[in-house]
Amino acid sequence: MSTEEQLRRVVRQIRTELEWAARTGIVVESPKVPEAPARTEGAPSQPPTPASLNPPARPPQVPPTPEPPTSAVVPQANLQSAPAVVPQANLQSAPAVAPQANLQSAPAVAPQATLQPGPTPPAPARLPVLAEQLAACTTLEGVREVLGDCTRCKLAKQGRQQIVYGVGAANAEIMFIGEGPGAEEDRRGEPFVGAAGELLTSIIENGMGIRRGEVYIANVVKCRPPQNRDPEPDEVAACEPFLAAQIRAIKPKVLITLGKHAAHTLLGVQTPITRMRGKWGEYQGTPLMPTFHPAYLLRNPAEKRAVWEDVKEVLRFLGRPLPGRGAK
Ligand code: SF4
Repeated sequence: MSTEEQLRRVVRQIRTELEWAARTGIVVESPKVPEAPARTEGAPSQPPTPASLNPPARPPQVPPTPEPPTSAVVPQANLQSAPAVVPQANLQSAPAVAPQANLQSAPAVAPQATLQPGPTPPAPARLPVLAEQLAACTTLEGVREVLGDCTRCKLAKQGRQQIVYGVGAANAEIMFIGEGPGAEEDRRGEPFVGAAGELLTSIIENGMGIRRGEVYIANVVKCRPPQNRDPEPDEVAACEPFLAAQIRAIKPKVLITLGKHAAHTLLGVQTPITRMRGKWGEYQGTPLMPTFHPAYLLRNPAEKRAVWEDVKEVLRFLGRPLPGRGAK
């Protein structure tokens, strides 16, 4: 291109620039001018053409500055109402309800599920009927009639000669309860008639100053366990309802259990008799004094003193006079 041609081209370019400046009032010399519309919103990706430069340059500065006083009122209304209500609703409803639901439901069920089923004994299905029959009994004769020729536990088939029901006054203040009949009791049909029975009679008559016929004497099980073994739990469970019915019929003021088995059965504990004796317990509302079994005293005569102390405590409880000496 010749120099003249180049000059012409520059002149045309300058003229074009001047015409653009005359039309728009803007001198476009710097390449920075096209960057202005790039800060505006709306068409960032459009190229910086002259047509798009002008309109956006003015309008964007007017609307984005809201300073009228009305706008100060509206936000305040929003700040006072919306936040004040929503947080309160959150604090009162959500946290308050959820913990209460947890405290009321979970602990209330667990204790009930775990506490109630524990003490249920392995009772035969016929026991509810038996319990109704015994509950209707008000006399020793009535209980004996319900007992009948009892075969409710395996002791009925293990060599017993007869049921040893009990003996004594139907209105006794004191009721002695042993473990089960021995050989002599099984033969004669009366509790505590062997050597241990003679010692018990001495305790009652010489130690307590009461005739044997004034008290009532029974056992936890009414049939003799073979070889004088201890009664087993199922045998005790089968026979205890009759003993309980006898106690309800007699209504004694005091029960005296003889030996550990009777005390364990009636008090529902397994504490050694050496720690239980002489301490008051209770069986179905009746005061209960545990003491040693007479058979144990035959083997350990020195323990008679402890039994003497126990029966003196019973006599004091009943307001009876204390005899001068204990059993021989
Ligand atoms: S021990 Fe009691 S329950 Fe068992 S057979 Fe004798 S009377 Fe019946």
